Amino acid sequence: MVKKKPVRLRPYYRTRYAYQKLRVCKHCHHFTVLWEDTCANCGRHALIPVMDQAAINAKRSMQTERLAALLLTLVAVLLSQTFLQIAVCLGGGILLTVLLWLLQRRMLPSETRRQLDKLLHGSQRLILEGIYLNLSTASAAIKDDEQIGYEILREIATIVHNDRIRLQQIVLLQSFVLRKDMDLELEPLLIEDFDSDLAAYIGEIAKVKRELIKASAIRYLLIHERYILQMKQGASIMTAAAGAAVRMKKYVDMYPDFIRRYARGLPRERFLRLYQIVRRNPDQSWDGLRDEVSAIYNEKYRWDPDFQKWE
Ligand SMILES: [Zn+2]
Repeated sequence: MVKKKPVRLRPYYRTRYAYQKLRVCKHCHHFTVLWEDTCANCGRHALIPVMDQAAINAKRSMQTERLAALLLTLVAVLLSQTFLQIAVCLGGGILLTVLLWLLQRRMLPSETRRQLDKLLHGSQRLILEGIYLNLSTASAAIKDDEQIGYEILREIATIVHNDRIRLQQIVLLQSFVLRKDMDLELEPLLIEDFDSDLAAYIGEIAKVKRELIKASAIRYLLIHERYILQMKQGASIMTAAAGAAVRMKKYVDMYPDFIRRYARGLPRERFLRLYQIVRRNPDQSWDGLRDEVSAIYNEKYRWDPDFQKWE
C-alpha cells in the first residue's frame, strides 16, 4: 500500500449558489473557478465575481435607457415651435427621466439577476473553456503537489458534477492521512458504480468523521456489499459504517438488517451505543437485531459496568 501523506487542507468556502465560485476577467471574458490573482488567459489583474460583472452590466443597460429618454426629450425640444412647447417637452422629459431613474434604482437587484442569467447562459462556451483550463492546471498540480491538485478539483467540482472528477478527488484523498479536523466531504463524492477507493474512503470517514455517514453512503455500501467484501479490508469497512450508523436511532430503524450482520464486529464503545438504543426501545425487534444484540451482550458484556447504565 502507498504510504499516506499528512496534509493540511486549506478551508473550503461553501457558497449558496455554485455560480458564486465563478469569476470572469473584465478584460478578455475568460472564466475561472480558482483563486488565482491574475487572469490565466490575458495575465491582467481583472478577475471579478460574475455577480459583480452582472451588476456592471445592469447599471450599463439602465444608463443606456436613461440616455435614450434624454435623447427623446432633446428631439422633442428641437421639434417644438413655441416657447410653451419647449418648456412642456423639457419639463416633461426631465421629470420622466428622473422617474425612470427612481424606478431603475428599485429594479437594480432584479435587473442584476436577469443580467447574471444572461451572462451565464450567453457564456456557456467560454465558461467551459475556462473550466478546461482549470482542469489542466489541476492535472499539472497533481503531478507535483497532490494537495493543491485536490483543492483545485474541489473548487471545480462545485461547478462541474461528474464522476471522473469525483474519482480523481477520491484517489487523491486516499493518498492523504485523514483527520477529524479536516474539511472533508462524502455525499458529493458518491458515484453509482463500485469503486474500491471510494469504499475504502467511506470506511475511513466512518472512523474519523462519523457524522458524514448518512443514508446515501450506507445505501452505496449495501448495493456494492458483495464487491466490498472481496476487498482485503472489506469487512472492516462495513463494520466501521455500521458503527457510525448507530449514532442515530433513525439509521437503526432504516437498516436493522445491515446493523445486525455487523454488530458482532463493533468495537465496545459502538456496541454500547447500539445496546443503549435497543434497551431504550423495548417494543422494537428490528427484524432480529434485538435478539442479536442480546446474544452479543450475554456473551461479551454481561459483567461490564458501563452496560448497566443505559437510561
Ligand atoms: Zn483576461
